[in-house]
Amino acid sequence: MDDCIFCQIVAGDIPSRTVYEDEHAFAFLDVNPLAPGHTLVIPKAHHETLGDLPADEGAAVFSALHELVPVVEDAVDADGSTVAFNNGEAAGQEVPHVHAHIVPRFDDDGHGPIHALFDGPGELSDDELDDIEEKIGAAME
Ligand code: 5GP
Ligand code: ZN
Repeated sequence: MDDCIFCQIVAGDIPSRTVYEDEHAFAFLDVNPLAPGHTLVIPKAHHETLGDLPADEGAAVFSALHELVPVVEDAVDADGSTVAFNNGEAAGQEVPHVHAHIVPRFDDDGHGPIHALFDGPGELSDDELDDIEEKIGAAME
């Protein structure tokens, strides 16, 4: 994808602070860090969302995440990290090349959990929950 910023970073056409690379995965520091050490982990190939990502590339991204998270935390002396995908425009994804954020967290940083994005638990009836469970379960068979 010629006009994709992240594809251009993988190709070396846009400079980045690269911290990891293997056959399918690539990781670099976010240019506008939400915290020191904010790192992005991406598949090298262009896919927009997690649902578009072939299984082997998804596994490579997760394997890179698994290795990187503790290393990134140590590098900035963090107490934990928020690891998240903005998956799709509705979820706030701005760069349409799937990417995981590793955002280091500190005991006193004052930011909440992912739950802080939402006002509270949704009001769903048992019937609605049963329907959703059935639909997902059936599609996964
Ligand atoms: P999104 O909102 O799509 O989940 O996050 C995109 C992220 O990419 C943002 O955190 C933004 O700071 C980062 N970003 C956008 N353009 C560049 C760039 O050219 N270089 C780097 N290193 N990060 C970028
Ligand atoms: Zn791309």
